[in-house]
Amino acid sequence: MRKERLAKRGIAAGVVVLLLSLLMGTQAYAYTLHYWKMDTSIWYRASYLFGDETREGFRSRMSAWNQYLPEWRRLCYDANVHYDSGYPSRDGRNQIYKEPMAASKTGAENKVWYDQIGSMLYVRESDINLNWNVSWTNGYDPSRVDTQTVMVHELGHTVGLHHSEHRWAVMFEETYAGYLNRDLTSDDINGVRNRYL
Ligand SMILES: [Zn+2]
Repeated sequence: MRKERLAKRGIAAGVVVLLLSLLMGTQAYAYTLHYWKMDTSIWYRASYLFGDETREGFRSRMSAWNQYLPEWRRLCYDANVHYDSGYPSRDGRNQIYKEPMAASKTGAENKVWYDQIGSMLYVRESDINLNWNVSWTNGYDPSRVDTQTVMVHELGHTVGLHHSEHRWAVMFEETYAGYLNRDLTSDDINGVRNRYL
């Protein structure tokens, strides 16, 4: 596989425009820009296209974030698979897909729908897609992209984090084949703690 950079993305749909400029320059972390958060737990089901080991990996990356989330706002794993196609789909279910994406340099994407309550945006649904056109693996392979490295990043968008400028943070916006970065750094942890103070 070519050694090019792959983008990890979080995109939003909702009723207001995010005013990213409001807090710029006033916060220590790039991801403390105005963003959404969870006010309930989010349950995910993954596509049958992912193997058991890969789906267990997804569960473990949810646990990584859950250590820093309030008890009633957790990332939860539903062991049932889904057979759906048509990412993204606002159907009331939070699903992890593996579908082709037009932009070949997009490794994965998290589409988040939210409601605004007061000045805060609350997650109502999240669909994550790992681009079918990317060569995936669960672990280290110099020519493939690690599914857990990308999943921990996309789940960071679900809990409400934006991209970090810190190169080693899981919320950094680029990844590569043969690069394992599965564990939260202090930058990521500070970000999630800040969001759920
Ligand atoms: Zn991202």
